[in-house]
Amino acid sequence: MATSSDCLFCTIVAGDIPNDTVYETDTVLAFRDITPRANSHVLVIPKSHEDTLGQMADDDPTSVAELFTAAREVARREGIEDSGYRVVSNVGADAGQEVFHVHVHVLGAQKLGPVGP
Ligand code: IMP
Repeated sequence: MATSSDCLFCTIVAGDIPNDTVYETDTVLAFRDITPRANSHVLVIPKSHEDTLGQMADDDPTSVAELFTAAREVARREGIEDSGYRVVSNVGADAGQEVFHVHVHVLGAQKLGPVGP
């Protein structure tokens, strides 16, 4: 499993920073965002380090699929699978990516506004 020594999310995967885990598999960890921007806001990350979703799509497309499968399981566990939820990933600086370890945000448990700048 790839790790990056100065990566916040690798530190969370290692268990050195506590997290509020919602769902976990051998390859994926889902935990509550520390600054929630919806009533339910969960981050889904691969345990193995990749900088961006775009890079991961090239390097390991199967792992990208696992993230989205996990996002659906998170929605199920949060009770928002039927009401609807948003899965979004910020890729790179212009999108506002702050943590350069792949993650998708799963947002819901309320009516969401349109996607936009
Ligand atoms: P980004 O802007 O798409 O890179 O999202 C990074 C997310 O990580 C932000 O929504 C932050 O609130 C969240 N975050 C940063 N540090 C922590 C933490 O220690 N635990 C949980 N979420 C975090």
